[in-house]
Amino acid sequence: MLRNYSLRHHNTFGLDVLCNYACKVHDAGRLEVLFRDGYFGGERWLVLGGGSNVLFLEDYYDGLVLLIENKGITLSQDLGDEVVVSIAAGEEWTGFVQQMVKAGLGGVENLTLIPGKVGAAPMQNIGAYGVELKDVFHSLQAFDTQTGEIVEFLPEDCEFGYRNSVFKTLYRNRFIILGIDLRLKKNPVVKLDYGSIRQELTSMQADNPGIEEVSMAIEKIRRSKLPDPQHIGNAGSFFKNPIVHPAMFDLLKSEFPDMPGYHSDDGNTKLAAGWLIEKAGWKGFRKGDAGVYDKQALVLVNYGKATGADIWELALEIQYSVKTMFGITLEPEVNIIR
Ligand SMILES: Cc1cc2nc3c(=O)[nH]c(=O)nc-3n(C[C@H](O)[C@H](O)[C@H](O)COP(=O)(O)OP(=O)(O)OC[C@H]3O[C@@H](n4cnc5c(N)ncnc54)[C@H](O)[C@@H]3O)c2cc1C
Repeated sequence: MLRNYSLRHHNTFGLDVLCNYACKVHDAGRLEVLFRDGYFGGERWLVLGGGSNVLFLEDYYDGLVLLIENKGITLSQDLGDEVVVSIAAGEEWTGFVQQMVKAGLGGVENLTLIPGKVGAAPMQNIGAYGVELKDVFHSLQAFDTQTGEIVEFLPEDCEFGYRNSVFKTLYRNRFIILGIDLRLKKNPVVKLDYGSIRQELTSMQADNPGIEEVSMAIEKIRRSKLPDPQHIGNAGSFFKNPIVHPAMFDLLKSEFPDMPGYHSDDGNTKLAAGWLIEKAGWKGFRKGDAGVYDKQALVLVNYGKATGADIWELALEIQYSVKTMFGITLEPEVNIIR
């Protein structure tokens, strides 16, 4: 158990937050011991993977932080056209994707370069470039902090939605994900119909692209648009893209004809939160060391010495101004730790 441990290198906003206790978790056995010792009963606790989707509002977290570090990637089943790959929660997502692309196994190449660890991927059903985790999800294993048992979750148990799952709603702060199983394709079919993938592949002169080229193209696009947390603190998209009724979209469109809208699976319209924030005049804004990234208004950044409270204050100002201008409430995608 580590006392008064700094989480500076465990959150991509780079905030120097101290926690009361931290504990590295290399296997389920560690969680069983913590359970027997009563840590999940009264103590405040929090799980961290790579800390790329959290914002701490205070400089001190008075509780136990579990740092998930179990490792292992194995091919666990051959289903003919597909294989099931089992990945420990503490593996880096990006490293796992690279390994699958190299092995010629398809399904996760569009999720190239998403920071963080594998265990957090089901939490918000990570997604990018037209693919979400749920598209390849097979099952997961999680430690139940109420019973001390390990439970298996199948796709229908996870209630995956847009940046959402049962682990963010009904089971918030109950399960600790230990590993996930994904179904990957031996003969992948590439998905190119999103954003500027085709354009990037053309400029790479990849006429007949496979998963390796798609992964490379997406890596290039992402590097050109998003700040690298190693250099500028951030947690990717700060807000979710709002989803509105088509009638509401028509109304907005009559006032803002250039407003983009995309068909959402539930028949509604998904708006681009970045566009709303940019239109409200925030792109490139900076107050002290808290700011709005100048290449993508959806990303809030820490230029160095901003506190979590500074970034949150900016987020609330943006929320207020978007609400005033468009009547739309932006909801944070980032997990706010109070
Ligand atoms: C530059 C940048 C780009 C990004 N791009 C994308 C993107 O394209 N698409 C996308 O979906 N996300 C994106 N993100 C957000 C982030 O990378 C993902 O949400 C990622 O899955 C978070 O992983 P993590 O290990 O860092 O999670 P953390 O930030 O450590 O945790 C996130 C949440 O999950 C919980 N959690 C973490 N691990 C576990 C576990 N094992 N069991 C139970 N709960 C757990 C935490 O308590 C917290 O509530 C981006 C972030 C950055 C910084």
